[in-house]
Amino acid sequence: MTSPAAEFDPFSKPHLLGISDLSAFDIENLLDRANAWAERNALPDNKHAILRGRTQINLFFESSTRTQSSFEIAGKRLGADVMNMSVASSSVKKGETLLDTAVTLNAMRPDLLVVRHSGSGAVELLARKVANCAVVNAGDGSHEHPTQALLDALTIRRRKGRIQGLKVAICGDIAHSRVARSNILSLAALGAQVNVVAPSTLMPTAIDRMGVNVFRNMDEGVEGCDVIMMLRLQRERMSGAFVPSSREFFHYYGLDSRRLALAKPDALVMHPGPMNRGVEIDSVVADGTQSVIRDQVEMGVAVRMAVLEALADNLHGGDNVKAAGA
Ligand code: ASP
Repeated sequence: MTSPAAEFDPFSKPHLLGISDLSAFDIENLLDRANAWAERNALPDNKHAILRGRTQINLFFESSTRTQSSFEIAGKRLGADVMNMSVASSSVKKGETLLDTAVTLNAMRPDLLVVRHSGSGAVELLARKVANCAVVNAGDGSHEHPTQALLDALTIRRRKGRIQGLKVAICGDIAHSRVARSNILSLAALGAQVNVVAPSTLMPTAIDRMGVNVFRNMDEGVEGCDVIMMLRLQRERMSGAFVPSSREFFHYYGLDSRRLALAKPDALVMHPGPMNRGVEIDSVVADGTQSVIRDQVEMGVAVRMAVLEALADNLHGGDNVKAAGA
């Protein structure tokens, strides 16, 4: 079975650090590749040799359930040797850890390095220090989470047939969310209209410069929307109390059936996980017929396969497909 890489234009970047580095063309290119993988993943034989002989290291300085396992499955499905390194960063200064880590990893000569770190910009720093290796940002602080935005875009595109012209509400803790940032960038690039909904304490001050419509009132923010994307309160990035209580937050900013009914009747409900039921989303909605939360997880594997493959294809003169004999 040939690689989708053979069917698509080469991906133009050596790393995937953020959606902000990508053009609409780059995003569409990755979505098209990921869609091809999503189709293939549904077939019984979904193991490939495209990354055979490649080493992928998943380096996670922050804990993760779905993102790390999704990258692991994606790499293994493509035949890469995948190694997971979970690094406790709490006791060590971030700068030192990163530079030390860069030197160590260079010596191991990985081809693909997937990195999550609590510091915004930390993954880019690592990419600059690690030679001859493709780096993927799996989430850096409150900055970017590009593969999440890509899997969200793919989920929407497959369900709605397009992204252009759709009205998408992103609701909750916008201020601390890398998911919100990456999604705003990708959805805007693909021609969607984005509403952001949050209390003032969880809304970044200059957010309107990103071309979004800003709502403090959730009923108004979700009205007539095609997609509602809910976000968790990122308490690990809060230095004080940003909301009076979880109960009050749910009252004003939780997605329940009444609020969902204000959106279009076929509106999609999305959440990047982990979900806090009863805080930002009601179980009835999370598990309801309009929820595509499980699709998001499934598309996550396809998107990560596409990203790993696209980047590996650029390594060492783009010979990975030939080398794997795929
Ligand atoms: N899983 C997402 C992230 O890593 C969202 C979250 O943690 O709330 O940013």
